[in-house]
Amino acid sequence: MTQKIEVDFGLCESNGVCMGIIPEVFDLDDDDYLHVLTDHVTPDNEQQVRESVRQCPRQAIAIVDE
Ligand code: SF4
Repeated sequence: MTQKIEVDFGLCESNGVCMGIIPEVFDLDDDDYLHVLTDHVTPDNEQQVRESVRQCPRQAIAIVDE
């Protein structure tokens, strides 16, 4: 089973914590809008994506089965 990243943009406050952990996945643009560059959880990014889930102060990031 594969897993993907979901962000609740209603909760996200664009503080960039996730981007600081893994900028290959999370990117804040010049308007402070968060973009998920890839929503696939891979062996390469899984550890840092899970760390982002843990550290997001708004608990806005989730990993879901797809
Ligand atoms: S860490 Fe959470 S609140 Fe901060 S930008 Fe990322 S998703 Fe949004």
